[in-house]
Amino acid sequence: MTKITYTQPQVNNNRPDVATMSQWLAPIVWENSFDLTVIDNIYKQKNITVATTVFAVGKYVRFLKDLLESAEQHFMVGYRVHYYIFTDLPHEVPVLTLGEGRRLKIMKTAGSSRWQEISLRRMEMIEKLIEEELLNNADYIFSLDVDSKFYGHWGAESLGDLVGVLHAWFFGLSRDQFTYERRPESQAYIPFSEGDYYYGGAVIGGRLANVLKLTKTCRMQLDLDRANKIEAVWQEESHLNKYFLYNKPTKLLSPEYLWDDKKGKPDFIKIVRFSQVLKNYAEIRPNP
Ligand code: UDP
Repeated sequence: MTKITYTQPQVNNNRPDVATMSQWLAPIVWENSFDLTVIDNIYKQKNITVATTVFAVGKYVRFLKDLLESAEQHFMVGYRVHYYIFTDLPHEVPVLTLGEGRRLKIMKTAGSSRWQEISLRRMEMIEKLIEEELLNNADYIFSLDVDSKFYGHWGAESLGDLVGVLHAWFFGLSRDQFTYERRPESQAYIPFSEGDYYYGGAVIGGRLANVLKLTKTCRMQLDLDRANKIEAVWQEESHLNKYFLYNKPTKLLSPEYLWDDKKGKPDFIKIVRFSQVLKNYAEIRPNP
């Protein structure tokens, strides 16, 4: 660290209204739970690159413009960000002026006539991208859903070895209400008596090696399910939840990092940083 001036840490919790630590002592990141000056002073010197994958297949390309423009305003500003846009419609990717140190690469992918298929294939494509292209070219990776938008700061406080986000709709519910996969025949099965949080599949992050292990494991579990002719209730999100149950994330992002435009804001949400935008499923999905 270089010498900087910042406020002395307090001995009490700045956010007594919410838990800022999991039972396994992974921080849960909330507004006012961190000092960005200190965090930036640590990470800026590391000269890191954050790879960011976004899938925009079929009609979902329409969400790219808002997502990318808002990311340029709010996401990892001041850091090197390499976007990898997976799409079957490369010509429809908007042309944007990116900030310094920020790049965008289009990854041509096949289209699909089933939206579930796209969600089932993301793990495999991220796994391949890390193995074939990223291992020497990036430090951290985030996978983000395209039908979303940044509304507020999302910076280096979100970085960690393995990062999951707490799903806005399930935050505060009891574990038996989570929409985990409940059929024991699926590899994503979680019994009603288990579970910590319900994690959103729209945001996965961490160091490359950790996310590689996650995507590889989930992809193998998805393959096994496919061979057994079973599809988990929320496809890759179900497998992600299973993975995080037995491989605990080292950092948890509060629902500030994955809100939903449809959802009212309770008092504990001081800021919405990233949120899922309203969409008309009938209009944008290839199948009902
Ligand atoms: N997706 C896509 N094209 C599709 C369906 C899904 O590109 O036809 C990608 C896109 O990145 C989207 C993500 O898969 O953000 C998750 O799908 P979706 O938003 O439909 O799932 P939901 O969050 O609504 O359950």
